[in-house]
Amino acid sequence: MEAEAARRSPALSVFDAPADARVAAVFDSPHSGADYPADFRPALPMAELRKAEDMYVDDFYAPAPDHGAALLLARFPRVYLDANRAVEDMDEGLLDAPWPGPLAPGIKTECGLGLIWRLSSDARPIYDRKLSVAEAQARIDACHAPYHAALKRLLDARHAAFGRVYHVNCHSMPALSGPRAPEGEGVARADFVLGDRDGTTCAPDFTHAVAECLTGLGYSVALNDPYKGVELVRAYADPASGRHSLQVEINRRLYMDETTFEKSADYAATGAAVARLIATVVAFAQTA
Ligand SMILES: [Zn+2]
Repeated sequence: MEAEAARRSPALSVFDAPADARVAAVFDSPHSGADYPADFRPALPMAELRKAEDMYVDDFYAPAPDHGAALLLARFPRVYLDANRAVEDMDEGLLDAPWPGPLAPGIKTECGLGLIWRLSSDARPIYDRKLSVAEAQARIDACHAPYHAALKRLLDARHAAFGRVYHVNCHSMPALSGPRAPEGEGVARADFVLGDRDGTTCAPDFTHAVAECLTGLGYSVALNDPYKGVELVRAYADPASGRHSLQVEINRRLYMDETTFEKSADYAATGAAVARLIATVVAFAQTA
């Protein structure tokens, strides 16, 4: 029943191949949602809030079901609720009363980027008010719970059918490091950053196959630097049991203007590169 509820949730979209064409691969994009709920009530302009979106990442991975893979997309925006965080990653400073559940805020949460963001990408307060505990809980119930249930359902079904599953958690990143980056502001990122939490969330051969695909296309690729992967590659990975999760970050300079949000001249070429990545993941999933 939980899976059926997730399938119908307005918080997400699932695209899948016909049952007889499926392969052991699942892609998910938790940050490309742009359905801003009426109860969000931020104090910042949309142009600033939308910098947090992984804009166009849903479009790049749209061909995945044509290759037999499943594709899960969040429809809610990342600044409303970040599905790539644990529920315990609550920022209590954002609330008007103590959080009743367990708390385990990470270092990102201390920077204002927890389960519910307190600060924007530009480090400005998103709200001019405190959120109620009920408001925060409602976001978890409406967004986090159905998204994670849907991802787990897709991964479990593939694993049950094939004895293995290869999961790619899809993101984009700014061209340059921001003001809160450990290495300082303005450091250029690689074209792609692959994150397997230092080799713990998937077989090394899988990370290498994706990296080789991208370097073969002429792109620079960094591993676990500066993005190692967060909750969505951690939560369901178990390489010893055939459950492999890899995070892929695409540099926004490859396809868009980060200020105007317009697609750049290289958009189509970048889309073609991601299509090659999808084909590589699917081929790996079929032969591994
Ligand atoms: Zn992201």
